[in-house]
Amino acid sequence: MISVSLSWIAGKVEGTLNTKSVEELQIKGVSTDTRTLQPGDLFIALVGPNHDAHDHLLRALQKGAAAIIVSRPVDCPLPSILVDDTKTALGKLGAAVKQQVNPKTVGITGSSGKTTVKEMVASILSVKGKVLFTKGNYNNDIGVPLTLLRLEKQHEYAVIELGANHLGEIAYTTNLVKPDVATIVNAAASHLEGFGSLFGVARAKSEIFKGLGTKGTAILNRDSQFYSFWEGKTSHLNCLTFSPESGYGDYHAEDIAMGMDGCAEFELVCPTGRAAIRLSIPGTHNVGNALLAAALSITVGANLEEVQLGLFNMREVGGRLNVKQLSNQIRLLDDTYNANVASVNAAIDLLATFSGNRIFVFGDMAELGDKARYYHEQVGEYAKSKGITSVYSLGVLSQCASDVFKDTGFHFDSKEALVAMLNQNVADEQRDISILVKGSRSSKMELVVKAIEESP
Ligand code: ATP
Ligand code: MG
Repeated sequence: MISVSLSWIAGKVEGTLNTKSVEELQIKGVSTDTRTLQPGDLFIALVGPNHDAHDHLLRALQKGAAAIIVSRPVDCPLPSILVDDTKTALGKLGAAVKQQVNPKTVGITGSSGKTTVKEMVASILSVKGKVLFTKGNYNNDIGVPLTLLRLEKQHEYAVIELGANHLGEIAYTTNLVKPDVATIVNAAASHLEGFGSLFGVARAKSEIFKGLGTKGTAILNRDSQFYSFWEGKTSHLNCLTFSPESGYGDYHAEDIAMGMDGCAEFELVCPTGRAAIRLSIPGTHNVGNALLAAALSITVGANLEEVQLGLFNMREVGGRLNVKQLSNQIRLLDDTYNANVASVNAAIDLLATFSGNRIFVFGDMAELGDKARYYHEQVGEYAKSKGITSVYSLGVLSQCASDVFKDTGFHFDSKEALVAMLNQNVADEQRDISILVKGSRSSKMELVVKAIEESP
């Protein structure tokens, strides 16, 4: 973080400093977790439903905290700032630091692909200058301000992922981030329990545009069923479009060809010209992600050569559709990081591009509410329409997908039974075999990947 004085911080969070003598104390880092607190950090005592960090102030003191922000008077010798609410103070401080550094800022939300697009944009802008971007998945109302607090003077760009599991969360974080350009990658069935319906998801995501100033630019998904809705929400702003599927967007792809490794090559067509793009991460859905990343980066000043190089340089993101060649015959598609309907279908699209025996190992998709069984069945239908050979399900809901396959759909009660059958299948097979493993975080399908990798 940039170095700021304690009195500057107290002003920004509208809090009361307990003693004047420490007004000029310089703070260079903020922590909300004593396990990762560094000496000299300002410790903000957050209060959650199951924990109260005011209970850990002694630990913060022992680990070398320089000062604390608290929401009630405490018996602690450290300099302190008293505020009404510590979470709000964290947000205000993040926003103030962002305003002080003032980097060109990109805001990204959506149901799937946020992290991927964020990594793509960060890779492109890194060709140009110093970029701060969201670490991993720090995309909620605590992660976003913590990300902004990592800004240093030299950062010219910030690429921030905004996620949500309830209405209003993105409205809050986008107002801290105040992006120059913002986008919704897509809206799909995920976190339905929090948003009520697919339209609820689209509406919640549209909150991101509230953070754009009048000079801001919105990048809209031209092919989404919610395009017109989002267009209505952004009519007062500059708008550009990208099309992951059709050729109608300002940013679109021509001459898409899939390499043997599942990575696409295509011609990017956009208002500033055309460029040949070679991706280094697999999946046709990444063509759309790359178009969007180009639009976001070019809007904050990148040129086509930087887009080309940045996309080519980008490395795969762990657990997101990683293609591993286990032997000459067996290819494993590890997409175990998480799952919703759109990302499962995207992974099935990639599996369908390979020849031979194509096996889909499916764990449950979580948080789909009343229609969960229907959505799992839809995935089964989609896999069938794409010519997938068989579905192995491991979970009560995903059984709805394997049932669609009848004789080539298999349900298992344990990972061990599933892997044993898979090994048997592999032993009897002469053709190439591609195995896609996917499920929600809670399904822990990475354990299946591990078991497959460790199979003799
Ligand atoms: P989270 O909500 O967990 O933060 P995210 O939106 O950041 O997810 P990623 O981590 O980039 O998304 O990708 C999650 C999953 O979605 C991966 O399985 C990935 O392959 C798939 N995916 C990425 N981009 C798209 C897309 N444009 N459409 C559908 N699926 C996608
Ligand atoms: Mg993410």
